[in-house]
Amino acid sequence: MALIVQKFGGSSVADAAKIRNVANIITRTYDAGNDVVVVLSAQGDTTDDLIEKANEINPNGSKREMDVLLSTGEQISIALAAMCIEKMGYPVISLTGWQVGMETSSDYSRARIRKVEGSRIRKELDKHRIVLVAGFQGINRYGDITTLGRGGSDTTAVALAVALKADLCQIYTDVDGVYTADPRLVPTAKKLDAITYDEMLELASLGAQVLHNRSVELAKRYQIELEVLSSFTGNPGTIVKEVVKMEKTFISGVAQDKKIARVVLVGLEDVPGMAYRVFSLLAKAKINVDVILQSIGRNNTKDITFTIPEGSKDLCQQILEENQETLRYHSMNVSTDVAKVSIVGAGMAENTGIAAAMFEALYNNQINIHMISTSEIKVSVLIDKADSEKAMRAIHDKFFD
Ligand code: ASP
Ligand code: MG
Repeated sequence: MALIVQKFGGSSVADAAKIRNVANIITRTYDAGNDVVVVLSAQGDTTDDLIEKANEINPNGSKREMDVLLSTGEQISIALAAMCIEKMGYPVISLTGWQVGMETSSDYSRARIRKVEGSRIRKELDKHRIVLVAGFQGINRYGDITTLGRGGSDTTAVALAVALKADLCQIYTDVDGVYTADPRLVPTAKKLDAITYDEMLELASLGAQVLHNRSVELAKRYQIELEVLSSFTGNPGTIVKEVVKMEKTFISGVAQDKKIARVVLVGLEDVPGMAYRVFSLLAKAKINVDVILQSIGRNNTKDITFTIPEGSKDLCQQILEENQETLRYHSMNVSTDVAKVSIVGAGMAENTGIAAAMFEALYNNQINIHMISTSEIKVSVLIDKADSEKAMRAIHDKFFD
């Protein structure tokens, strides 16, 4: 007998028929003799709809009240699914985040899990009940409801798997697993049998949006193997774990990020401390800087170019304008017509020619590269936004065809 944690995303529980489908998967797992703990997300677009409702009433509502509101979506899902499983004649109970002791930090809307006091779940499992837990929500030290940030139910599931020492943590979604690229953009994308935690983290932060980033961090820290699979097809999914047998391509995926902006500061004085002054201003404002390029100094001036999330563009521009006198740059140029396209692969570290192959694919399609950055398992290029999909396909074909 094993203890299995299963998480079902919003699209898997979107309506009554889909809840029945999920209930079948859960009870089949139970019938096989396992203890089953299930984490559910809010149905379909529920969370977005709740945000819209709040905005109609008060777009500046406090984060505390937003969390009270948003946590209701998951509560609907667990109650409905429990009723469905009851009707099938199985012992089942639904529990909220606070009932299972999901203790978090106090940061409303982006709380982090501190501890799972799981005694209630263990008691229910001892009674041989199927336990359904509301994802995405917890409780802080003031006894108030918190949420874990968008997509946070994945993290609820992994935290429960850690706390309960589960044998398996399955993340059910509406696709068959993790793909070498977004299949909607790259029709030849292939499902991966396995991927490492590190690759998954890079892909998640690159906008691949399969798993909540923190869920992967947590799984890596406690070495919990995850399986990402479809609740609709019954096909085997993708295993996320520490080490994976290397594909001959050495690459696991291609991803794009179009929600970025590029900032160019032209004509900064070529003296020590310039980069420090620019980036400490941005750090103070909590602006996340990604790719950075500094030109070679000429005539005592240099240029610094960097990328930031598109959402930070106005704030960044404002700060740099306010400081033009002290920074004494000649001009600033801000553009959102750029995209970052990246390849990720744990095999990169020990193999040569991978970046070159990526650049060749871009050259063959006459796509110009504005900036390049690399890490041990990633190569990213900044290109024109209009070229982004074409670049993804060209790079994907180069490595996977
Ligand atoms: N319902 C929340 C969201 O839509 C949490 C989740 O689905 O994981 O972000
Ligand atoms: Mg999700």
